[in-house]
Amino acid sequence: MGKSVAIVLAAGKGSRMKSDIQKQYLLIKDRPVLYYSLKAFEDSFIDEIVLVTGAEEISYCRDEIVKKYAFTKVTKIVAGGKERYHSVYAGLQAIEDCDYVFIHDGARPFVTEQILTRAYETVKKEHACVVGMPVKDTIKLADESGYAADTPRRDLLWIVQTPQVFSFSLIKEAYTVFLKQEQELRSQGIKMTDDAMVAEMFSDKKIRLVEGSYENIKITTPEDLRIAEALL
Ligand code: C5P
Repeated sequence: MGKSVAIVLAAGKGSRMKSDIQKQYLLIKDRPVLYYSLKAFEDSFIDEIVLVTGAEEISYCRDEIVKKYAFTKVTKIVAGGKERYHSVYAGLQAIEDCDYVFIHDGARPFVTEQILTRAYETVKKEHACVVGMPVKDTIKLADESGYAADTPRRDLLWIVQTPQVFSFSLIKEAYTVFLKQEQELRSQGIKMTDDAMVAEMFSDKKIRLVEGSYENIKITTPEDLRIAEALL
């Protein structure tokens, strides 16, 4: 079995929650959201976990989450960066070597071992895959004035979740090339919002879509927290 490392992302401020506490540390049934995300990886076949958090939250994560709940697979806790992709790169740099990397939002507490296994079976064959689900609603593309500009075919649309899983060398190289061109892409209005986008642009592999679950939600806004409590 190839060595698999998870990068669990818990940096960033998250202004959409309208709370002083970052979404990944809010409590669901007395435990932080991040606890559930880490627990899913801890209890799975994953070999190691690199936790990426804000520089000021490293000691909180170490004492109040990793030590408190005895997460033995968390081998490193590193500081993230301004954008999600900076945090991912910090995580990639902390990995010495492995075969597969599972990049996961710490704010997605309901990832399951079945999802991890499906992604693992896929990445072994295809080198790059992302977890997601077909959309249930019709999606409109808006123009900049707020009018419907186009209606993409619903049967081809997926919402993308995490983990996003790659061969280590593929994703590390794609991120390295991308970050060299970051300013230029930014000036063209291109913003990398997930890892698949980096791999799509800077690797020659196609990204396979793998079935996640409609419960694998990201805690982003206050109503998500109520949904999360109900799901638990
Ligand atoms: O903000 P967004 O919803 O895209 O965040 C997704 C995940 O990425 C969250 O788990 C958050 O903690 C993480 N993140 C990060 N570093 C940033 C921004 C977001 O680790 N600079």
